Amino acid sequence: MATGKEDKIDATQNLTRVTSEFKGVNHLAWGTQASESDDDPRRDGAAAWGNIDDEVADSKLREACGVFGCVLAKDAPLDTVSIAQVIYLGLVALQHRGQECAGIVTSEGRGTRKFHYYKGEGLVASIFTDEQITKLKGSIGIGHSRYSTAGGRDPCNTQPFMVHTRHGPLAIAHNGELINAVALRKTVLDRGVGLSTCSDSELITQMLSLTPPRGEKHGPDWGARIRHLMEATPTAYSLALLHEDKIYGVRDPFGNRPLCIGRLMSLDAKSGGAESPKSLGWILSSESCAFQSVGAMLIREVYPGEIVELGPYGVRSLDLVPRPKPPLSEAAGLPDETDHPSLREAPPSAFCIFEYVYFARADSIYEGQQVYSVRKRCGRQLAIEAPVDADIISTVPESATPAAMGFALQCGLPYVEVLCRNRYVGRSFIQPDTRSRQLAVAKKFGALTENLVGRRVVLVDDSIVRGTTVGPIIRLLRQAGAREVHIRIASPPILHPCYMGINIPTRGELIANNKPLEELTSFIGADSLAYLSIEGLVKAVSEGVAVKNGTSSGYCTACLDGKYPVHLEW
Ligand code: SF4
Repeated sequence: MATGKEDKIDATQNLTRVTSEFKGVNHLAWGTQASESDDDPRRDGAAAWGNIDDEVADSKLREACGVFGCVLAKDAPLDTVSIAQVIYLGLVALQHRGQECAGIVTSEGRGTRKFHYYKGEGLVASIFTDEQITKLKGSIGIGHSRYSTAGGRDPCNTQPFMVHTRHGPLAIAHNGELINAVALRKTVLDRGVGLSTCSDSELITQMLSLTPPRGEKHGPDWGARIRHLMEATPTAYSLALLHEDKIYGVRDPFGNRPLCIGRLMSLDAKSGGAESPKSLGWILSSESCAFQSVGAMLIREVYPGEIVELGPYGVRSLDLVPRPKPPLSEAAGLPDETDHPSLREAPPSAFCIFEYVYFARADSIYEGQQVYSVRKRCGRQLAIEAPVDADIISTVPESATPAAMGFALQCGLPYVEVLCRNRYVGRSFIQPDTRSRQLAVAKKFGALTENLVGRRVVLVDDSIVRGTTVGPIIRLLRQAGAREVHIRIASPPILHPCYMGINIPTRGELIANNKPLEELTSFIGADSLAYLSIEGLVKAVSEGVAVKNGTSSGYCTACLDGKYPVHLEW
């Protein structure tokens, strides 16, 4: 249920309500503190998935937010475009990136002293009503949908964050997690700035509110402020910042989280709704899948390290912040006397490879290639690396469907559906009885018996995390008459935690760390089990790259091989 914020702060009743017009009240003052059980990550996850069954949700990785922003062009007719509605539709399209809570902040542009905003918990469609959308006036705004990592699930962490700076209100939407948040937090506190949450998004907000080291002679220099932040923290973040009549789009120097720019098009009635070339404004989005639903087209991705400015007159690139060079101890083969930064190579970019594997919507485009095609290539590569004598290829609907199709194409076997998914499963009880726990997967999936009786089935999935779902699914298929069930995973085993904003269970909870392949195969009850190799995954991803983002196309594979893009200091 939505717990939308309206009216004004009622401190006496300690309610989770906030003003819908931001006029300098510290928004972190609202809400009650989360109970201890709210901080339990497992409970977090279950609640975050809304109507998705706990057991199934728990077996997947979770993305940690979608950001979206829109600014109308100077001559765009305000009566034909509702900025709040565009942002709302954008957030609905990015819902897969975070289902815990969402918010929209709009502004009437230059010289404004207040924002309009509305935030709530739950799915985007359950938070915003027509009435709230109507109240979110303005020609510019940003939005955010969230799944919590740093900062936990306290409602006060709902974004966008807002603060009053010396130069007026500033709002920020953040996807990612700062790898050096602890050190940065100390820096901010040392400068006498108080922090109200554990959220690194608040940290970013406060860092940006500080005057940059060289000062500002002619008003706020947001380019310099953002650069200062980026030099202090190399990864992981994609940001949308709203100030006056501009939105600043920022992607960290490693390009770990995605961000792209689009053009909002007028819909020409004469051509039956087809897009005409006239620009109504500019969009910033975590993924390009949101563009179609708001009538926009992809211009390009924001480059790793780039700061872009979107305003009523268009888009411009303000700066490109380089990746920091590694310390000498990590630059292999260099003798001490050559310890000069200019002699060391900057590391490659580190775009999260799991965006391709699982997080992104299949119709999104990264590096000039559609995610769907990459997943299909992963399936093909998997069939080359781990062929199996079988009758049909299938999948656990739906995220691994393209990989299963690629697998089927490569080995020349038919792709046949064997599972029917119930989309309307409610949440399980927090402490289900044994019988309900046993039925958790059967509640979610039904077997298409006639498609699998007496057949040898290859079931392709995109990942195994805790290994809680795959075993019951195999049992379901066997009970329905499958002769053999072979599991093929279109990504390598997940062995390490992620510190860049993806909620991965602890090392101990990752099933691939607990059981060698043979043991795991018999534990889940499969006839055989194989994963895609890391080299195979990188090959499948790199093959179709059509647009290089800046200087290199590198990928983060840290959860697979433990090689983090930067040195971890703890
Ligand atoms: S560690 Fe894994 S999930 Fe995290 S950013 Fe790297 S590839 Fe993505």
